[in-house]
Amino acid sequence: MEKILVFGHKNPDTDSITSSIVMANFEKKLGHDAEACRLGNINKETEYVLKYLGVEAPRLIDSVEDGANVILVDHNSYEESIDNLDKVNILKVIDHHKIVLSTSYPLYFRAEPVGCTETVLYKMYKEYGFEIDKKIAGLMLSAIISDTLLLKSPTTTDEDKKAVEELAKISGLDPETYGLDMLKAGTDLSSFSIEEILNLDAKQVTLKDIKTVINQVNTASIEEVMKKKSELEEGMEKIIKEKDLDLFMLLITDIINSNSQVIALGKAAGIVEKSYGVKLEDNTALLKGVVSRKKQVIPILTENA
Ligand code: MN
Ligand code: MN
Repeated sequence: MEKILVFGHKNPDTDSITSSIVMANFEKKLGHDAEACRLGNINKETEYVLKYLGVEAPRLIDSVEDGANVILVDHNSYEESIDNLDKVNILKVIDHHKIVLSTSYPLYFRAEPVGCTETVLYKMYKEYGFEIDKKIAGLMLSAIISDTLLLKSPTTTDEDKKAVEELAKISGLDPETYGLDMLKAGTDLSSFSIEEILNLDAKQVTLKDIKTVINQVNTASIEEVMKKKSELEEGMEKIIKEKDLDLFMLLITDIINSNSQVIALGKAAGIVEKSYGVKLEDNTALLKGVVSRKKQVIPILTENA
Protein backbone atom coordinates (compact mmCIF):
# COMPACT_ATOMS: atom_id res chain seq x y z
CA MET A 1 0.00 0.00 0.00
CA GLU A 2 1.08 3.54 -0.69
CA LYS A 3 2.36 5.77 2.00
CA ILE A 4 -0.13 7.24 4.46
CA LEU A 5 0.38 10.73 5.86
CA VAL A 6 -0.97 11.26 9.38
CA PHE A 7 -1.53 14.79 10.62
CA GLY A 8 -3.48 16.93 13.07
CA HIS A 9 -4.89 20.42 12.66
CA LYS A 10 -3.22 23.68 11.65
CA ASN A 11 -1.62 25.62 14.51
CA PRO A 12 -0.89 22.23 16.01
CA ASP A 13 -1.12 21.72 19.76
CA THR A 14 0.41 18.92 21.79
CA ASP A 15 -2.51 16.60 21.01
CA SER A 16 -2.25 17.12 17.24
CA ILE A 17 1.50 16.56 17.23
CA THR A 18 1.66 13.58 19.57
CA SER A 19 -1.45 11.94 18.10
CA SER A 20 0.06 12.03 14.62
CA ILE A 21 3.18 10.28 15.97
CA VAL A 22 1.18 7.76 17.99
CA MET A 23 -1.27 7.05 15.16
CA ALA A 24 1.53 6.63 12.61
CA ASN A 25 3.08 4.14 15.04
CA PHE A 26 -0.29 2.36 15.29
CA GLU A 27 -0.52 2.12 11.50
CA LYS A 28 2.99 0.70 11.33
CA LYS A 29 1.94 -1.98 13.76
CA LEU A 30 -0.85 -2.80 11.31
CA GLY A 31 1.81 -3.20 8.63
CA HIS A 32 1.11 0.08 6.85
CA ASP A 33 3.65 2.61 5.65
CA ALA A 34 2.65 5.68 7.65
CA GLU A 35 4.43 8.93 8.40
CA ALA A 36 3.55 11.53 11.01
CA CYS A 37 3.37 15.07 9.63
CA ARG A 38 2.37 18.48 10.95
CA LEU A 39 0.65 21.51 9.45
CA GLY A 40 2.47 24.16 11.44
CA ASN A 41 5.14 25.08 13.93
CA ILE A 42 5.72 23.25 17.19
CA ASN A 43 4.60 25.34 20.15
CA LYS A 44 6.66 25.71 23.30
CA GLU A 45 4.66 23.23 25.30
CA THR A 46 5.06 20.57 22.62
CA GLU A 47 8.72 21.45 22.25
CA TYR A 48 9.13 20.75 25.96
CA VAL A 49 7.38 17.39 25.58
CA LEU A 50 9.38 16.20 22.58
CA LYS A 51 12.67 17.27 24.13
CA TYR A 52 11.83 15.69 27.47
CA LEU A 53 10.87 12.40 25.85
CA GLY A 54 13.58 12.51 23.19
CA VAL A 55 11.13 12.23 20.33
CA GLU A 56 11.60 13.86 16.95
CA ALA A 57 8.97 16.29 15.65
CA PRO A 58 6.81 15.14 12.74
CA ARG A 59 7.72 16.44 9.29
CA LEU A 60 6.36 19.88 8.45
CA ILE A 61 4.17 19.96 5.36
CA ASP A 62 2.05 22.74 3.95
CA SER A 63 0.23 20.75 1.32
CA VAL A 64 -0.26 17.22 0.08
CA GLU A 65 -0.80 15.96 -3.44
CA ASP A 66 -4.31 15.41 -4.69
CA GLY A 67 -5.26 11.78 -4.21
CA ALA A 68 -2.79 11.19 -1.36
CA ASN A 69 -3.72 8.78 1.41
CA VAL A 70 -4.17 10.61 4.68
CA ILE A 71 -5.30 10.00 8.23
CA LEU A 72 -6.62 12.94 10.23
CA VAL A 73 -6.17 13.15 13.97
CA ASP A 74 -7.55 15.72 16.42
CA HIS A 75 -9.69 17.46 13.78
CA ASN A 76 -12.18 16.70 11.08
CA SER A 77 -12.99 20.06 9.54
CA TYR A 78 -11.95 21.68 6.29
CA GLU A 79 -11.15 24.97 7.97
CA GLU A 80 -8.53 23.38 10.18
CA SER A 81 -6.93 21.06 7.65
CA ILE A 82 -4.99 21.07 4.40
CA ASP A 83 -6.55 23.22 1.68
CA ASN A 84 -7.27 20.34 -0.70
CA LEU A 85 -8.83 18.03 1.88
CA ASP A 86 -11.71 17.42 -0.54
CA LYS A 87 -9.26 16.05 -3.10
CA VAL A 88 -7.33 13.58 -0.96
CA ASN A 89 -8.21 10.08 0.13
CA ILE A 90 -9.07 10.21 3.82
CA LEU A 91 -8.59 6.69 5.14
CA LYS A 92 -9.30 7.32 8.80
CA VAL A 93 -10.22 10.03 11.25
CA ILE A 94 -9.48 9.76 14.97
CA ASP A 95 -10.90 12.69 16.88
CA HIS A 96 -12.74 14.10 19.86
CA HIS A 97 -14.41 17.15 18.29
CA LYS A 98 -17.86 17.61 16.88
CA ILE A 99 -18.29 15.96 13.53
CA VAL A 100 -18.33 18.24 10.51
CA LEU A 101 -16.59 16.20 7.85
CA SER A 102 -18.62 14.74 5.07
CA THR A 103 -17.18 12.63 2.29
CA SER A 104 -18.57 10.95 -0.79
CA TYR A 105 -16.90 7.64 0.15
CA PRO A 106 -16.80 5.40 3.22
CA LEU A 107 -13.98 5.71 5.74
CA TYR A 108 -12.95 4.63 9.21
CA PHE A 109 -14.20 7.41 11.47
CA ARG A 110 -13.72 7.26 15.21
CA ALA A 111 -14.70 10.19 17.38
CA GLU A 112 -15.43 9.97 21.06
CA PRO A 113 -16.58 12.66 23.49
CA VAL A 114 -13.44 12.41 25.62
CA GLY A 115 -10.90 15.02 26.64
CA CYS A 116 -8.19 14.18 24.15
CA THR A 117 -7.52 12.30 20.91
CA GLU A 118 -4.80 10.39 22.75
CA THR A 119 -7.43 8.89 25.05
CA VAL A 120 -9.11 7.41 21.98
CA LEU A 121 -5.76 6.16 20.70
CA TYR A 122 -4.96 4.69 24.10
CA LYS A 123 -8.19 2.68 23.88
CA MET A 124 -7.37 1.57 20.34
CA TYR A 125 -3.94 0.30 21.40
CA LYS A 126 -5.62 -1.68 24.15
CA GLU A 127 -8.28 -3.05 21.83
CA TYR A 128 -5.67 -4.24 19.32
CA GLY A 129 -3.39 -5.57 22.04
CA PHE A 130 -0.57 -3.28 20.88
CA GLU A 131 2.20 -2.49 23.32
CA ILE A 132 2.29 1.04 24.70
CA ASP A 133 5.99 1.62 25.31
CA LYS A 134 7.49 4.27 27.57
CA LYS A 135 7.76 6.91 24.87
CA ILE A 136 4.31 6.36 23.45
CA ALA A 137 2.92 6.47 26.99
CA GLY A 138 4.74 9.77 27.62
CA LEU A 139 3.34 11.26 24.43
CA MET A 140 -0.19 10.14 25.23
CA LEU A 141 0.05 11.36 28.82
CA SER A 142 1.37 14.77 27.76
CA ALA A 143 -1.46 15.35 25.32
CA ILE A 144 -4.17 14.36 27.78
CA ILE A 145 -2.71 16.69 30.41
CA SER A 146 -2.48 19.46 27.80
CA ASP A 147 -6.00 19.12 26.42
CA THR A 148 -7.64 18.71 29.83
CA LEU A 149 -5.40 21.18 31.68
CA LEU A 150 -4.33 18.55 34.16
CA LEU A 151 -7.74 16.85 34.17
CA LYS A 152 -9.41 20.07 35.38
CA SER A 153 -11.20 21.10 32.20
CA PRO A 154 -14.91 20.22 31.96
CA THR A 155 -14.03 18.16 28.89
CA THR A 156 -12.35 15.63 31.19
CA THR A 157 -14.00 12.21 31.38
CA ASP A 158 -13.41 9.17 33.56
CA GLU A 159 -11.73 7.54 30.57
CA ASP A 160 -9.16 10.33 30.44
CA LYS A 161 -8.50 9.92 34.15
CA LYS A 162 -8.11 6.17 33.82
CA ALA A 163 -5.74 6.58 30.88
CA VAL A 164 -3.61 9.11 32.78
CA GLU A 165 -3.35 6.77 35.74
CA GLU A 166 -2.03 3.91 33.67
CA LEU A 167 0.10 6.04 31.36
CA ALA A 168 1.78 7.62 34.38
CA LYS A 169 2.82 4.14 35.52
CA ILE A 170 4.16 3.11 32.12
CA SER A 171 5.98 6.38 31.43
CA GLY A 172 7.25 6.85 34.97
CA LEU A 173 6.11 10.48 34.81
CA ASP A 174 4.28 12.15 37.66
CA PRO A 175 1.27 13.86 36.05
CA GLU A 176 1.20 16.68 38.61
CA THR A 177 4.83 17.79 38.54
CA TYR A 178 5.65 16.89 34.96
CA GLY A 179 2.27 18.20 33.81
CA LEU A 180 2.60 21.57 35.47
CA ASP A 181 6.15 22.03 34.16
CA MET A 182 4.91 21.15 30.69
CA LEU A 183 1.93 23.53 30.86
CA LYS A 184 4.15 26.29 32.21
CA ALA A 185 6.65 25.78 29.38
CA GLY A 186 3.74 26.50 27.06
CA THR A 187 2.93 29.79 28.74
CA ASP A 188 6.29 31.39 28.06
CA LEU A 189 5.39 34.06 25.51
CA SER A 190 8.61 36.03 25.84
CA SER A 191 10.09 35.09 22.47
CA PHE A 192 6.90 35.63 20.47
CA SER A 193 5.84 38.68 18.51
CA ILE A 194 2.27 39.92 18.95
CA GLU A 195 1.39 38.44 15.58
CA GLU A 196 2.76 35.07 16.65
CA ILE A 197 0.86 35.15 19.94
CA LEU A 198 -2.35 35.85 18.03
CA ASN A 199 -1.75 32.81 15.84
CA LEU A 200 -0.46 30.33 18.41
CA ASP A 201 -3.71 28.51 18.95
CA ALA A 202 -6.16 30.32 16.72
CA LYS A 203 -9.22 28.48 15.51
CA GLN A 204 -11.35 29.87 12.76
CA VAL A 205 -14.99 28.92 13.14
CA THR A 206 -18.22 30.14 11.61
CA LEU A 207 -20.92 30.53 14.25
CA LYS A 208 -24.09 30.36 12.20
CA ASP A 209 -23.01 33.12 9.79
CA ILE A 210 -20.63 34.96 12.07
CA LYS A 211 -17.05 34.64 10.87
CA THR A 212 -15.02 34.18 14.01
CA VAL A 213 -11.51 33.51 15.18
CA ILE A 214 -11.06 32.23 18.71
CA ASN A 215 -7.49 32.25 19.92
CA GLN A 216 -6.53 30.76 23.25
CA VAL A 217 -3.36 31.54 25.15
CA ASN A 218 -2.49 29.71 28.34
CA THR A 219 -0.81 31.59 31.14
CA ALA A 220 0.10 31.33 34.78
CA SER A 221 -0.68 35.05 35.13
CA ILE A 222 -3.48 36.86 33.29
CA GLU A 223 -2.05 40.18 34.48
CA GLU A 224 1.23 39.50 32.76
CA VAL A 225 -0.46 38.96 29.39
CA MET A 226 -2.85 41.91 29.89
CA LYS A 227 0.17 44.22 30.03
CA LYS A 228 0.25 43.75 26.27
CA LYS A 229 -3.47 44.47 25.83
CA SER A 230 -3.24 47.47 23.53
CA GLU A 231 -0.67 45.81 21.28
CA LEU A 232 -2.77 42.66 21.19
CA GLU A 233 -5.85 44.67 20.26
CA GLU A 234 -3.98 46.41 17.49
CA GLY A 235 -2.92 43.04 16.10
CA MET A 236 -6.45 41.68 16.42
CA GLU A 237 -7.88 44.64 14.50
CA LYS A 238 -5.42 43.96 11.72
CA ILE A 239 -6.42 40.30 11.47
CA ILE A 240 -10.12 41.25 11.55
CA LYS A 241 -9.55 43.45 8.51
CA GLU A 242 -7.40 40.92 6.68
CA LYS A 243 -9.77 38.02 7.20
CA ASP A 244 -12.94 40.09 7.12
CA LEU A 245 -13.98 38.70 10.51
CA ASP A 246 -17.09 39.57 12.49
CA LEU A 247 -15.51 38.55 15.78
CA PHE A 248 -12.05 37.96 17.16
CA MET A 249 -11.97 36.49 20.63
CA LEU A 250 -8.74 36.18 22.53
CA LEU A 251 -9.03 33.90 25.52
CA ILE A 252 -6.25 34.32 28.04
CA THR A 253 -6.61 31.22 30.16
CA ASP A 254 -5.23 31.01 33.68
CA ILE A 255 -4.13 27.39 33.96
CA ILE A 256 -3.67 27.59 37.73
CA ASN A 257 -7.03 29.08 38.72
CA SER A 258 -9.08 27.88 35.74
CA ASN A 259 -10.51 31.22 34.53
CA SER A 260 -10.23 33.07 31.25
CA GLN A 261 -9.91 36.76 30.54
CA VAL A 262 -11.48 37.49 27.18
CA ILE A 263 -10.66 40.31 24.80
CA ALA A 264 -13.37 40.54 22.18
CA LEU A 265 -13.23 42.75 19.10
CA GLY A 266 -15.31 43.02 15.95
CA LYS A 267 -18.86 43.99 15.12
CA ALA A 268 -20.25 40.80 16.66
CA ALA A 269 -18.48 41.25 20.03
CA GLY A 270 -21.88 41.67 21.67
CA ILE A 271 -22.38 37.90 21.45
CA VAL A 272 -19.76 37.49 24.14
CA GLU A 273 -21.76 39.68 26.53
CA LYS A 274 -24.97 37.86 25.68
CA SER A 275 -23.38 34.43 26.00
CA TYR A 276 -21.81 34.92 29.39
CA GLY A 277 -23.96 37.65 30.94
CA VAL A 278 -20.93 39.89 31.28
CA LYS A 279 -20.25 43.47 30.31
CA LEU A 280 -17.20 44.07 28.14
CA GLU A 281 -15.33 46.97 29.62
CA ASP A 282 -12.66 48.30 27.36
CA ASN A 283 -13.29 45.18 25.19
CA THR A 284 -12.50 42.79 28.01
CA ALA A 285 -14.17 40.72 30.73
CA LEU A 286 -13.33 37.87 33.08
CA LEU A 287 -15.09 34.59 32.27
CA LYS A 288 -15.04 32.70 35.54
CA GLY A 289 -14.45 28.96 35.29
CA VAL A 290 -14.16 29.07 31.50
CA VAL A 291 -11.18 27.09 30.23
CA SER A 292 -12.49 24.95 27.40
CA ARG A 293 -13.00 26.55 24.02
CA LYS A 294 -14.61 23.39 22.75
CA LYS A 295 -17.11 22.93 25.54
CA GLN A 296 -17.56 26.32 27.16
CA VAL A 297 -17.08 28.69 24.26
CA ILE A 298 -17.97 27.40 20.79
CA PRO A 299 -21.33 25.80 21.71
CA ILE A 300 -22.42 28.74 23.90
CA LEU A 301 -21.50 31.31 21.26
CA THR A 302 -23.22 29.28 18.55
CA GLU A 303 -26.37 29.20 20.63
CA ASN A 304 -26.29 32.98 21.05
CA ALA A 305 -25.15 33.84 17.53
MN1 MN B 1 -6.12 20.14 19.21
MN1 MN C 1 -7.36 17.48 21.11
